[in-house]
Amino acid sequence: MMIRRKTREVRAGGTFIGAEHPLTVQTMWKKSLHGFSEFDLKEISALRLYGCDFLRFSVPDLTSAEILSNVRAKADMPIVADIHFDYRIALKCIEYGIDKIRINPGNIGADWKVKEVLKAAAGRGIPIRIGINSGSLPRQLSALTDKSEAMIKAAEEEIDILEKNNFSNAVFSLKSSDVQATIRANRLFSKQYDYPLHLGITEAGPLTAGLVKTSIALSELLGDGIGDTIRVSLTDSPANEVIAGREILKACGLYDRGVNIISCPRCGRSTFDTHSFINSVYDELYRIKEPLKVAVMGCVVNGPGEAADADIGITGAGNKVVIFKHGKLFAKVDENKGRELFLKIIDEMISNKPE
Ligand code: SF4
Repeated sequence: MMIRRKTREVRAGGTFIGAEHPLTVQTMWKKSLHGFSEFDLKEISALRLYGCDFLRFSVPDLTSAEILSNVRAKADMPIVADIHFDYRIALKCIEYGIDKIRINPGNIGADWKVKEVLKAAAGRGIPIRIGINSGSLPRQLSALTDKSEAMIKAAEEEIDILEKNNFSNAVFSLKSSDVQATIRANRLFSKQYDYPLHLGITEAGPLTAGLVKTSIALSELLGDGIGDTIRVSLTDSPANEVIAGREILKACGLYDRGVNIISCPRCGRSTFDTHSFINSVYDELYRIKEPLKVAVMGCVVNGPGEAADADIGITGAGNKVVIFKHGKLFAKVDENKGRELFLKIIDEMISNKPE
């Protein structure tokens, strides 16, 4: 069994990171806070249902900080403010009680500004994430060819500043778009420090490439017991980042909530359009919190076996679809009636599950 590295406990809002707390999944809001609307709040609620534990926003100016304080008051999950360089924005976000701040003290400038930010965060019990990114290292380190070594040196400099200010309520991340450099840096860091680690590959790419790179890096690190919270950075929607994050944790045996979807890729034998069907139920399935194995299959070759092995399964059978419930044949209906019946059965299964 995998043994997780022991890290210190950090609390952001009502959610813990590190120590023995379950790994959490994060994503980042992809639009400007200027123009934030009620519609956006609905998107945040959907992210929560998909399994998002923290939502980070870029806060490039004081107006954004003010808007974020309103978002925080209405959002149903801890909010993280992402700030670069300007200590006044960090102070505002801390004053507004934003749950966590991502800022690198080394980028703030004069010592007195750093002191003010760390003192204010300590006063409110607000943690800080130090995000070391190989693409934005301090000038003296960016020339180093070994990116993992450069990231560790940058982290050491930040830790030095934290320690001089008696500040320990911090989470670290060491991210690169280079998978192997990210793995090396996080392994080295975790040997020396007990700060919780936020894992991810930065600028990982579009959906497929980003998922492959992140999965490889995270499966290595999580397999070593390294990592306390994760983000899958994709050139894609926040919803898919969250779903990808939970799928990675699930595949590593670190997440047991929600659906496990078994679905056929389709081939020439298919009598049921599994692609369209999955797309039509995707949103509903990923909002389910309870553990549920679901099979969506295309034909009678592998379909009945997989469908019968799931809590609920649907498979093509000639010009009909067959639905299995708890391993037993439940119904055979026309394809256009399949979706409604499938979702109705899932609804009943979930309502009858003990809390
Ligand atoms: S389940 Fe049937 S349709 Fe789907 S890939 Fe397998 S053989 Fe092809």
